[in-house]
Amino acid sequence: MNSIEYIEEAEKDLVHTYNRYGIVLERGQGVYLFDTEGRKYLDFAAGIAVCALGYGNEEYNSALKNQIDNLIHTSNLYYNVPTVLAAEKLKKISGMDRVFFTNSGTEAIEGAIKAAKKYAYTRDGHAGHEIIAMNHSFHGRSLGALSVTGNKHYQEPFAPLLEGVSFADFNDLSSVKTLITEKTCAIIFETVQGEGGIYPASREFMEGVAAICKEKDILLILDEIQCGMGRSGKMFAWQHYGMKPDIMTVAKALGCGVPVGAFLMTEKVAEKSLAPGDHGTTYGGNPLVGAAVNKVLEIMERDKIADHAAEVSKYLWSRLEELKEKYDFVKDHRGLGLIQGLAVSVPVGQVSQMALKKGLLLITAGSDVLRFVPPLVIEKEHVDEMYKILDEIFVSFL
Ligand SMILES: *Cc1c(COP(=O)(O)O)cnc(C)c1O
Repeated sequence: MNSIEYIEEAEKDLVHTYNRYGIVLERGQGVYLFDTEGRKYLDFAAGIAVCALGYGNEEYNSALKNQIDNLIHTSNLYYNVPTVLAAEKLKKISGMDRVFFTNSGTEAIEGAIKAAKKYAYTRDGHAGHEIIAMNHSFHGRSLGALSVTGNKHYQEPFAPLLEGVSFADFNDLSSVKTLITEKTCAIIFETVQGEGGIYPASREFMEGVAAICKEKDILLILDEIQCGMGRSGKMFAWQHYGMKPDIMTVAKALGCGVPVGAFLMTEKVAEKSLAPGDHGTTYGGNPLVGAAVNKVLEIMERDKIADHAAEVSKYLWSRLEELKEKYDFVKDHRGLGLIQGLAVSVPVGQVSQMALKKGLLLITAGSDVLRFVPPLVIEKEHVDEMYKILDEIFVSFL
């Protein structure tokens, strides 16, 4: 089959929930991907902020291959070595106390919500607690995660969703304050809003929410699924703010390509939260993904990947600033580390399609933002290569 035939077959077989780009990817090396026609692409999408180490990392690949030969799955009824080592490392780099491994980001959000509700239930001796989430947030597609996702379009067909969720405006502390009631058990947001258009939390907002949470014993849940794991220039984006959440969620780059996520909590939360029988998963944190997480964390720590991301991100920042200066239709430039966005008034879908034709994978966020989430191992020369392509595209819009 050639790529056209694969695509036709896919459109017949798969539930049509995505409008996919018209290429069939086959192989990756470094920060480049290759399709079935042998075309090469510079990757500024990283499988949506997943493939932090790029492609073909031999150390990572052989860790996975070895684990496949030893043991892939056990269920959580038994202990296994790689997952315990992974949890230990994750605790150490985050300063959190307890880890629950999941199969995805969405499932980490589900767990985080349940953990917060159980904490409040134990503390107060009754259920019926409420959660405050943010407008334009994204936390996933399952019914629980969708309930805290502030996007009417995503939610509407699936109502009624979880009760007791209200939405504040991100980076607007007073809008959060007005929603707090006696029943509020948690406030959840992304440290850097991803899908909503790349908006980092302001320092004032973060500090304000953290103070309210502390005062009222409300749990702060930070979603680090997209901005975590070194992408912001620190291992977790909240580390830029000199604070710590009560619960956090990670996924995407956590396993660099194997399906794994996690929610973590402090000991204070754990003492009153999920107990045997409250939560579970058959696959979550199985030996295969455990080996991946363990190796990813080892490489990230040893090779100071977050520092590298911080370094290259400054260069990416300066080059995107050049584009902003040069083109009036670039309205805004936002981000933190290697999660950056350009808000433009030209059609982002069209820019992204043109980029694809020129050998650049570039994705969008919201309706008017170009999203830059490359593998964290990119170098300045790759930023220049991306800049050249994007500049050519932008010129054509003048
Ligand atoms: C991708 C994402 C999710 C959902 O993760 P999945 O692995 O797709 O289930 C949740 N929150 C944020 C911030 C994300 O970027």
